[in-house]
Amino acid sequence: MGRQQAQGRPHVRSLDIRSGDTVVVISGAERGKRGVVQRTFSAQRRIVVAGINIRKRHQRSGEQRGGTTALQGGIIDFPAPFSYSNVQLICSRCDQPTRLGRRLEGDHYVPFCKRCGEAYLRAPRA
Ligand SMILES: [Zn+2]
Repeated sequence: MGRQQAQGRPHVRSLDIRSGDTVVVISGAERGKRGVVQRTFSAQRRIVVAGINIRKRHQRSGEQRGGTTALQGGIIDFPAPFSYSNVQLICSRCDQPTRLGRRLEGDHYVPFCKRCGEAYLRAPRA
């Protein structure tokens, strides 16, 4: 009761980013690059973004992994998970790095861009 919460408490960003969203890298060697989120691991606060943080995996010829068969073997490029805190969401309306707020529209909350104020719309999941 009456405990101060604001001070000394690290700011925790909620996981506003979902697969299919476009993000921009805001730190590290790939700063400024954009990509589409492929997967999120909210528990680990890590994400996989297409074309970002590419790692190489050595694969033997004929080896099966993830339902695909490497015909020739060799080295396969794939995007590795990295910290969620290294990216920022790109607004689908104003095309700028932003954060999402929530506001009540009708009887449910919808995310909106804090930069342009437009509702942030996601394509329905396939
Ligand atoms: Zn916007």
